[in-house]
Amino acid sequence: MENAVYTQSRSRLRDYEPIVGRSCLEELRTLAEELGGKVVQNINSTFIGGGVAEILEHMVPLLNQLGVDTRWDVIQGSEEFFEVTKKFHNALHGKDEKISKEDFALFSEITQKNLDELRFYGDILVVHDPQPAGLIAKKKETGRKWVWRCHIDVSNPVRKVWEFLRGFVADYDAAVFSAPSFSQQLPIRQFLITPSIDPLSEKNKELDSGAIDSVLTKYGLTSEKPMIVQISRFDRLKDPLGVMEAFQMVKKSVDCQLVLAGGTATDDPESEEVLEEVRKQAEGNRDIHILLVPPGSDLEINALQRAAAVVVQKSLREGFGLTISEALWKAKPVVATAVGGIPLQIINRFTGLLCHTVEGAAYALKQLLSNPEYAEQLGQNGKEHVRQNFLVTSHLRNYLLMFLALDHPEDIIHL
Ligand code: UDP
Repeated sequence: MENAVYTQSRSRLRDYEPIVGRSCLEELRTLAEELGGKVVQNINSTFIGGGVAEILEHMVPLLNQLGVDTRWDVIQGSEEFFEVTKKFHNALHGKDEKISKEDFALFSEITQKNLDELRFYGDILVVHDPQPAGLIAKKKETGRKWVWRCHIDVSNPVRKVWEFLRGFVADYDAAVFSAPSFSQQLPIRQFLITPSIDPLSEKNKELDSGAIDSVLTKYGLTSEKPMIVQISRFDRLKDPLGVMEAFQMVKKSVDCQLVLAGGTATDDPESEEVLEEVRKQAEGNRDIHILLVPPGSDLEINALQRAAAVVVQKSLREGFGLTISEALWKAKPVVATAVGGIPLQIINRFTGLLCHTVEGAAYALKQLLSNPEYAEQLGQNGKEHVRQNFLVTSHLRNYLLMFLALDHPEDIIHL
């Protein structure tokens, strides 16, 4: 499926000036000009749900505003294909999944179908994550520069799956990872680019208390008790059951409520099952609120994050973990596991608290709920950390530099 060119952004580049300063925007314009009219084509597996879609949604229009013709296409796959790629995803995160010969064959079959049906028109192709990785087969025909943008932590993968994927990845011109620890030995160039959030998007813009309250009312919530919030797709790797366990421990000493809010992604067939498990475990507990939020509920997520006394992200494995930056940008104290890209965002006891276990999460949550001044200080530090490192403007700069570097294999770019 081919998407619109995405020139319609809700935010204009100049709107970022008060947040990041004029020189930052001037630098972006200079870099964009240097690209000299090259077309950038992004390919991933879904327009809706999850971090990749979230990032592309704000990056693509802004690159277009900078004059870089940037587009976004998605591959088509059957339900069975996405079941296989979900298993790949889990296995790349180190989970011992049973993957059969038929699964690999189905992956290859759907890849071939997309090779036949998609148009490859970019001067630079940015292929996101494992699902479309096999499209690299087209490189021989089209030439051009191909980049594999990996958003997940592949530092400790199930070998069989990584070897299969590596067969594709090694043919790209470059691979991009979100954290140094995610990378792998590869015969191609590797770049480190952390993802970002858009401070002006529906999900992150300032909200007044009226807007927050109306979302709470919509979901039947009150702000009477301090709220612990985790926003995540219903995925076992986000450990919603572990969050509930930690909450029960906290509840023994602090009267509070828990909100687990998330949706299901079209490329994640497991989520319905996980949601059921979560609902079952929460049954009868009036202080646990399980909210199924439909795609596009950005304002609602914004409000829930802002209504939180503490934001938690108890992932067992994580890519970068955008929800962390989203919460920090709202100056929220955050408790999160030290996995994936989370430690890049949470500097322990400076921009939030890191934990490793259910007990550790409970301890940290109690600490923050009972010491609001400390919690506020962490939140403020976290906001500045995000401003310096994880806003879309930094991300655009890194992408533009990477695009330019593709034509400069000697590593030095002369502007
Ligand atoms: N998100 C959302 N709706 C949901 C759950 C998550 O819009 O129901 C957003 C969340 O706010 C964040 C992104 O999806 O922007 C999730 O990215 P993250 O890196 O945290 O996790 P991923 O889903 O990519 O594993």
